Amino acid sequence: MNYKEKLKDQRWIIRREEILQRDNYTCRRCGCEDEIHGKFLILNVRHKYYMPNTDPWDYPGEALITWCSKCHREETILKILQELNSLFVQRMSLYKANLVATSKRTKAEYNQLSNDIAKLREKLRKIEYGKK
Ligand SMILES: [Zn+2]
Repeated sequence: MNYKEKLKDQRWIIRREEILQRDNYTCRRCGCEDEIHGKFLILNVRHKYYMPNTDPWDYPGEALITWCSKCHREETILKILQELNSLFVQRMSLYKANLVATSKRTKAEYNQLSNDIAKLREKLRKIEYGKK
């Protein structure tokens, strides 16, 4: 069973409902209750962290929290932007060190960073403009 399938499992559906009830069917980040942001808003139960070899329903209550999809999306975008920023800084420092042309290893590193940046940008584009 992959992760997506696990989220359809009865055990997760029950666990998710418990957390939604505990959180009063309210987003714990922005406080909205539901459908405030339009018909696309649904409350999600989010894992604050991930543990190896643990099924989604086996997490303790403190690891799970109710967030609306708008907050979830904002947080995802923020994380990608932070990651992108860090990659840009790394790439710039390589560039400034002027090693790009002289060392094969550095060149490979530079290209790797550029690939990672392109991938993240694509991911961001998909989140912002929908999957196409
Ligand atoms: Zn929210």
